[in-house]
Amino acid sequence: MSSVDVDPGADRTRGDADETPRRRYELEDLGFDEVPKKYRKFYRRWNGPGDTIAPNEALCPVCKVIIRSPRELRAGDRLYCMACMTRVRIVAGENGGLETETLY
Ligand SMILES: [Zn+2]
Repeated sequence: MSSVDVDPGADRTRGDADETPRRRYELEDLGFDEVPKKYRKFYRRWNGPGDTIAPNEALCPVCKVIIRSPRELRAGDRLYCMACMTRVRIVAGENGGLETETLY
């Protein structure tokens, strides 16, 4: 697997403060057709509250699309939702999980 793939789902974070290596994920095209084909693997539809959101996924608070990253997400990461053109930031949730907030 190439490590130089362009990743539109996550801005490149300079000087990763977090020391633990992040898990990496293989993404596959799940048929999300609201973005150009080459970016489809970075998104998927949210199936509602019962849907399990993986450590490399974040729910766009605006359009409820799941943004997928090839690496584990952590608080402070920024993502771009191509479906609604919103920038979101990962924040630590109250229950220890990760949540998203919109960046204006
Ligand atoms: Zn969105």
